[in-house]
Amino acid sequence: MNLNEIIEMDKKYYMNTFGNRTPVCFEYGKGIDLWDTEGRKYRDFFSGIAVNALGYSHPKLVNAIKEQAEKLMHCSSLYYIEQQAHLAKVLVENSCADRVFFANSGAEANEGAIKLARIYFKKKGMPEKYGVITLRNSFHGRTLATLAATGQEKYHKPYMPLTPGFSSVPINDLEALEEAVDESTCAVMLEPVQGESGVYPATLEYIKGVRDLCDKKGILLIFDEVQCGLGRTGKLFGYQHFDVEPDIFTLAKALGGGFPIGALCAKAHTAAAFEPGDHGSTFGGNPLACAAGLAVMDTLLNDGLVENAERVGNYFIGKLKALAGKHPILSEVRGKGLMIGVQLSEDRAVEIKEKCFREGYLIGSVGGNILRILPPLIVTEQDIDGMVDVLEGAITE
Ligand SMILES: *Cc1c(COP(=O)(O)O)cnc(C)c1O
Repeated sequence: MNLNEIIEMDKKYYMNTFGNRTPVCFEYGKGIDLWDTEGRKYRDFFSGIAVNALGYSHPKLVNAIKEQAEKLMHCSSLYYIEQQAHLAKVLVENSCADRVFFANSGAEANEGAIKLARIYFKKKGMPEKYGVITLRNSFHGRTLATLAATGQEKYHKPYMPLTPGFSSVPINDLEALEEAVDESTCAVMLEPVQGESGVYPATLEYIKGVRDLCDKKGILLIFDEVQCGLGRTGKLFGYQHFDVEPDIFTLAKALGGGFPIGALCAKAHTAAAFEPGDHGSTFGGNPLACAAGLAVMDTLLNDGLVENAERVGNYFIGKLKALAGKHPILSEVRGKGLMIGVQLSEDRAVEIKEKCFREGYLIGSVGGNILRILPPLIVTEQDIDGMVDVLEGAITE
């Protein structure tokens, strides 16, 4: 089928939640490159929204999925699953968590985190503690609870009344958070580096202050690391930049390298609140998803991808800052590692993104004035030089 036929079929049969998509359909990929149905090549600096951390067709991931698919894809968590236990072990051994539960997406992992925080206090005999405080401009998912947790009105409006128990405060404002915490609060939930709203990192001082506040008030701290976790920021987990540990954190996006899987990770004292029957998932943690997760974790940990994200990310941010020095339209470069936001002083983000696309480079945009850049963690300095040249062409054209 050619592109126009695909678009026509989509418009006729698929729900129109994505509007007019970028007019391209990809057929296959290798490394950081994608090829479309017309045979045209693109360099990917968006990773399917921070999912394809290993790039495309990574042999370790492809082989793990192939081999597992031939043996056993699904059997239900009513039975013991070796890959599930093994992936949980790898996550526990490399993080501050003691126990893991697998879901199928970021939103679902966050739902699990919110449920765990609530049940933790129910079982302590404090059922009045159910409120979760999140941050403005956060993004926690599209389910009814996670969209209520998301601090962006545009996601709330069509779905009022919202799931009760959520409120949000501005990022990096400890006083506002202190004022918001009351007797009904069970947890603070935040992204150490906010992604979807345009890449806003929390400050070191703020995160340390939030941890201290949660300790003082006896409430739980949840980090949504669905996007910033797993090497994206140049450390395996985002919380490692801040020298604090959350009680609960969630993962998804990169965990399966393109195969859907999410994880709810928690300290032992918190995780113990989930007892048999309290939570579950039909698909979550099935052998195939966990085999993919194991291959991704093995590659991240043993092929130096986290170190690459840090080194190449610093190089990238340095080059973008130098570009901003030459072109005042780039008013700020934000981010950590390979999670980068470029603030524009004019509403030209969509036009610049489209120009890059025409040159064969994929990036993202937020609203009219932010570029969002999330390359696979295998990207090299040379790849970045090419991207920055194209970006410079696009802004000066
Ligand atoms: C993408 C994202 C989610 C939602 O993940 P889904 O897999 O789309 O449900 C939640 N939190 C953060 C920080 C995200 O970036």
